[in-house]
Amino acid sequence: MASQPRRWKMPVWHSLQTKFLFSYGIIILALVLFLNTYPIVISQDMVFQSKKDSLWRQADIITSTLAGSEPLTAEGVEATLTKLGVTGVDRLMVTAPDGLVFYDTSEVGNARGTYALLWEVVTALGGEDVFRSEYREKSFRSRAAAPILYRGMTQGAVYLYEFDEEQAQLLQDLQENLMRISIIVCAVALLFSVVLTKALTRRVGVLLQGIRSVREGEYSYRVSMPGGDELSQLAEEFNELTGRLQTTDEVRRRFVSDASHELKTPLASIRLLSDSILQSEHMDSETAREFVTDIGDEAERLTRITEKLLTLTRMDTAPPTHLVPVDVKAVVLRAKRMLLPLAQKSEVTFSLDLTDGCTVLATEDDLSQIAFNLMENAVKYNKTGGEVMVSLFLRRGHTQKEGDLVVLRVEDTGVGIPEADLPKIFERFYRVDKARSRAAGGTGLGLSIVRDTARQHGGTVEVRRRIPEGTCFEVTFPHWKEESP
Ligand code: ADP
Repeated sequence: MASQPRRWKMPVWHSLQTKFLFSYGIIILALVLFLNTYPIVISQDMVFQSKKDSLWRQADIITSTLAGSEPLTAEGVEATLTKLGVTGVDRLMVTAPDGLVFYDTSEVGNARGTYALLWEVVTALGGEDVFRSEYREKSFRSRAAAPILYRGMTQGAVYLYEFDEEQAQLLQDLQENLMRISIIVCAVALLFSVVLTKALTRRVGVLLQGIRSVREGEYSYRVSMPGGDELSQLAEEFNELTGRLQTTDEVRRRFVSDASHELKTPLASIRLLSDSILQSEHMDSETAREFVTDIGDEAERLTRITEKLLTLTRMDTAPPTHLVPVDVKAVVLRAKRMLLPLAQKSEVTFSLDLTDGCTVLATEDDLSQIAFNLMENAVKYNKTGGEVMVSLFLRRGHTQKEGDLVVLRVEDTGVGIPEADLPKIFERFYRVDKARSRAAGGTGLGLSIVRDTARQHGGTVEVRRRIPEGTCFEVTFPHWKEESP
């Protein structure tokens, strides 16, 4: 029973398209996240660094200007700083060592005369330089504080505060631009990935369709896949495979139909002959004997065909495993002895030229099949009084690796084979002259067996017309030598 074609519904999340889109989505998302964070963080760091440099530079100038042998006073500080003319900061505060504010430029919440409890001031009074900057509510807020030191003594602290909206605006613009670019990149990349995955899955679908059609027996189906990529290669391989399947299928069908036909013909004859005997009431014993002999001949023919079919099937399914060195000369001599009665009937003579030492790694039976079939054909398709020449010799191979070859050549002076039939001569059931083959007891399988057997042992068979008449068959095998592996 033919198996039901499998056709399952694939869940959406299993499809190649979903998997590709999902992977692309993750990559795009990661890229967008990176694009929207890394440059911003780097820019912020750069701004913080520049703020730190500038505030510390100013704090340094102020502390070194204020430091001196005299303790600081509010008036002294004010006078010095007015002279110094500090610009670019939003608040400048100077405190005494105990945190009392001597000077403060802030208009709102001026701390002059009070104690500064700011963390930066307290830390600076402890002898450390401090800087802190933050980006909040679309502005940079930076604070720096430094101790005023004179010969290791802390005379006070300087506190600077800067509020910057300009750079923050620049950063804001950068962020917005990056966001816009990300959205565009995202849209384009998604569009591309959808188009690409759609094209890919469509092409895979074409291949899948091809495979399904072939599975359902449509061996003539071919896939067309332009593009020159891996999928095109896959399609080419698929077409090649399907072509082979088609050929094998055709050969198999032809073989089955030819075999049934070949078996039907003798069976029909047997039926006809037996009916004739049964139906004729007064058949003389001589005629009845003739009819029964004919029935026997047809039965023998059936036996020959089935035996040869079995030989071919055995070769297809179980190649010989136990190979031994076989002396081809002995095999040829035995075949000649077996064929002598047939040859004598049609006055055909044998002339043999056999070299010693032509050994082949095979089985005795297989080599006998080859020699017997070729020599039998040379007798069967010969003329009365014709000749069969068999030669056996060694030939040097074309390459070092190929080694020596054993050549068995069977020539005859017979009817010959037309040039057009030569390429088909090894096909199963192919016969040039059906009537002659039948009359000679042929089955049309002998040469197929010769070719398949020779191939199984690494050999080849060639056929050509012989000048001036007849046919020449040549079989070659790798020569087996004692030291051969
Ligand atoms: P068959 O049993 O008919 O001989 P083969 O396969 O041995 O089948 O041969 C196939 C056909 O090839 C034969 O029917 C015959 O027409 C042709 N043939 C084979 N050998 C020779 C030959 N030596 N001379 C002429 N024709 C030949």
